[in-house]
Parts: sequence; C-alpha cells; structure tokens
Amino acid sequence: MRVALINTNTYTYPPTIPVGMEYLIAPLKRAGYEVICLDLTFSSNPENDVCKFMEEHRPEFACFSIRNTDTALFINNQFLLETPAAIVRKVKESFGVPAIVGGSATLCAGSEIARLTGADALIRGPAEVALPKLLERMKKGRVPESPIDGYSYGIIPDIVHERGTHIDYSQYLTKGHPAGIEFRKGCDWSCPFCVERSRPILSRTIEATVSEIKSLADSGVRSLFFCDSEFNIDTHNTSLLLEAIKREGFPTEITGYFRPVPMNGLMMKFLRESGFRKITLSVNSWDLSPENSPYKENDVVNFIKMARQEGIRVAVDLLVGYPGETIDSVLKALEILRIAEPDTVGVNPYIRIYEGTPAVRDALKYAGQGDGKVLGEVEGNPELVRPVFYLGINLSKLKDAIDKDSTFVLEGSSKTVNYERI
Ligand code: SF4
Repeated sequence: MRVALINTNTYTYPPTIPVGMEYLIAPLKRAGYEVICLDLTFSSNPENDVCKFMEEHRPEFACFSIRNTDTALFINNQFLLETPAAIVRKVKESFGVPAIVGGSATLCAGSEIARLTGADALIRGPAEVALPKLLERMKKGRVPESPIDGYSYGIIPDIVHERGTHIDYSQYLTKGHPAGIEFRKGCDWSCPFCVERSRPILSRTIEATVSEIKSLADSGVRSLFFCDSEFNIDTHNTSLLLEAIKREGFPTEITGYFRPVPMNGLMMKFLRESGFRKITLSVNSWDLSPENSPYKENDVVNFIKMARQEGIRVAVDLLVGYPGETIDSVLKALEILRIAEPDTVGVNPYIRIYEGTPAVRDALKYAGQGDGKVLGEVEGNPELVRPVFYLGINLSKLKDAIDKDSTFVLEGSSKTVNYERI
C-alpha cells in the first residue's frame, strides 16, 4: 500500500529540511508501506504541484507535515496556515484519499488545525510509531478522534533514519543551511509559555544517531542543527553522544538549542571537540532573579564564559516581560548579559501565547489589571491558532536600554534567525 508524505512548509526564512517527515520513512517501510515524498518548500505553486504528484503516484493515504502556525514573532508576523490548509483541502477534494496531518504546528493548536485543513486525523507530536498504527486502524475503517497524542506512542530508539533519499537537499545545501537531526524529543522543564513544556523525553540510541550523522556527512552535509527542544537536557547521555561523534571525526559543524543548565566545562569541551562552533542559548529574563527558578544569573554567566573559553560563539534568545515581571527585572537581565558578552542577544518582549499553557491565564489576568497588553484576537479565535501576544513591559524603556549596544537586537526586526547572525 502506498503512502504519500507531503511537506507543506513554504516559509523559507530559513529554508528547513523536513526532518520530522523524513523520520517517518523508515518506520513506514518497516511496517510494509511503499513511501513516496513531496517537498513543497521551494514550490511556487504548491496546489498545482501537489495535484501533479497525486495524479502521478495515486497513493492510498496522504500525510501532511505542517511546520508552523505563524512566525511566532510579533514584529512582521506572518500567519502560515493558509497554504497548508489549501493544500490538504485540495488533495481531499480532488483525490478523495484519507488525509492525515502532523508536524510541529500541531503542538500549538491541534483541533483547530484539523478543522482548518479538513484532515481525517491529526497526530500531535512524534508520529513514527503512531502513524503506522493509525493507518492500520484506518484501513479497517476506524478513525480515532483527533488530536492523537504521538508522545504516548513513543519513538523507535534504534531505527536508523533514511536521510536525503526521498528529499532533494541540493537547494538547501547550496544556500548553506544546516540539516536538522534529533537525538531526543521532549523536555522536562515547564516554562509557562512553551508548547514543548513537560513532554516525555524520548531518546534515540547513540548508535542510531551517529549512523544518521554518518549518512548525512557521506552525502555532503557539512552543517547540522540538533532540533532537540534543548540539547543539554542532561550531562551524562549528552556527553556520551558527543564523545561518540568526536570519535568518528565527522567533517561537520554542529549547532543546537541549549538551556543554561546543566552545563560544565567538560561537556563544553566535548561540544567543541565534536564540532559545535555556535550555540543558541535560551534565557528568560524573569528566571534570573527568584529563588525557585531553574537557573540563576551565575549559570548563564558561566555558560557563556565556558563557551568563550572553548571558542564557541553564543547567540542568546532572551524572552522578556512575562506577566507580572517588572521593567527593573528586565533591565537587570540585560545588564547581566551585557557583562557576560555573548556574541549576540535577540531580545523578544512579545510572548506568543498558546492555548493550554499557563501563559494564557497569566496574560489575560495581568492585561485585565492594566499591567500589559494582549495583542491579537482572543474571542472567536479557537485554540488561539491565529497569533496572540502578550506585551508586558514598556517598549521605549527597553529600546533605550538595548539601542546603545549592537550586541542586542529586537527579535523580528529582520528575517534572520538568531544563530544566523553569528
Ligand atoms: S526549557 Fe525550553 S523546551 Fe523546555 S519548557 Fe522551557 S522553553 Fe520549552
């Protein structure tokens, strides 16, 4: 039976290889399906191209990956669901095949994406186990209620994923963009604004991860991005992976997302020795002061210092102005970072609020008291699928504080992402 995997993401700032979709190829083949893929990233007419593809291959199931609901930044925000919704609807109308939707956007608003696309089923989170099981049920005419929780099905830790076999990387690579890869999914922290908060940690084996890097390196990839929610979820397994990568001596530069802890000098050394040359460090200004924060000022300062000692550049993603935070707390965070001297700091005072996170309750409460603004439509916007932001601090005071120092950039003012600036 033939299954189509279709990448609907056409937002190219930056162009992003659809790694989550590629992670479905080997599991589907193992379950006995023939897999065909269509990548619409660079398509100038996605609806036309998807129809040609469906005409040619006539799959029994069509599975669609949707990456983003919107650009998640207030400044120059773009709502991105219209194109994927049109693609899914077009395929359903023209070919009548069952349509299944997944991808990272589903963490933001599952039921509403299912409604907008008209999908028969939607998987939220990892689909490498959930999707083959779902197809088996759909073949018997049973369609479970969406969204289906992919995390509860887990992943296949030791499967070696096929990379670059069904997706043409040439356009991505000639533009110098990294290929994504994952060691783990999930995060054990619970930052109140984050859709990845408190998700089970699902880890691949080190052997499978290293084999995947080898196949990427053999096919000419020289730049990798670990798409894990945060790469340093622990020190032990992360260090074992880094040592294994180092032993192979791949000719690849690596980067990824990090939180301030856990980190130590030895792991930072392993990072450099395994190919990390730049790192994105996520910091929340309001976490730098209180007693019960997951990290302290010293953790952030030491992280940046250790990276500098190893010659690794650091781009800080600084989110500021959580409901209830004062401008003094924000200014203190800016001063800490000014002294720590990372290579760049992207400052974001607009917090995108997603249904199901504590940020919705907190933002509405503080905005209701006149301490902040909710920007965007809350009423008539199910699951807040259309962008809604909370702005909790005085913008002119923030701009005064960052304008003096070119290390600080107001996030969204250019189309580059943070790690591209270093
Ligand atoms: S540490 Fe990162 S991924 Fe985890 S909940 Fe916080 S922001 Fe989300």
